[in-house]
Amino acid sequence: MTVLPIVYSDDPLLRKRSHAVRRITPEIRQLVDDMIETMRTNNGIGLAAIQVGVPQRVIVVEMPSEPDEEDDEDAPPRPSQLYVLINPEFARQSRQMEDGIEGCLSVPGFVGEVSRHQRVTIKGMDLRGKAVRIRADGWLARVFQHETDHCNGVLFIDHIDDPEKIWPVAEGEEELAEATQSIPGHSDQTSSSSSGSR
Ligand SMILES: [Zn+2]
Repeated sequence: MTVLPIVYSDDPLLRKRSHAVRRITPEIRQLVDDMIETMRTNNGIGLAAIQVGVPQRVIVVEMPSEPDEEDDEDAPPRPSQLYVLINPEFARQSRQMEDGIEGCLSVPGFVGEVSRHQRVTIKGMDLRGKAVRIRADGWLARVFQHETDHCNGVLFIDHIDDPEKIWPVAEGEEELAEATQSIPGHSDQTSSSSSGSR
């Protein structure tokens, strides 16, 4: 596995619409391996292939485990859930929207408040070429929307009209998360508690 260089937002490549993957080749498998390694090394929770310079519709998302309410405090941490999705596409999107705070590995130094569908059903292919369909809400739904946007050349900042809804963060802080959802009732907007730490 190789950590690949991240493409930053001033690069026109990020505005390119990525191509659909027709066949799962060894190159695609290698790309996914490298994307996972790159995401983890940068403490990201999601990555699209275009962010490492490959215009193919491939996304990886790793959802840090959140302790279950029924777990007692001494319970061992739950393993995080890794999603690999090829040709991601939304089958359903809730009408209900939700605001949340997002950052992006390709937009270092900034986070912003973005409105997203609260619930989605995303479909695509896994690495074996099998059709998959995932229902997600809240934070996971947000990350899927953020990453699928990348496949269409869209960045989270494109969803923000109000300049007050985007603000700088300390270098490295935005890297905690590709997309971080604010927790209702939490006053700390850039709270990293929802992005998990590894
Ligand atoms: Zn991003």
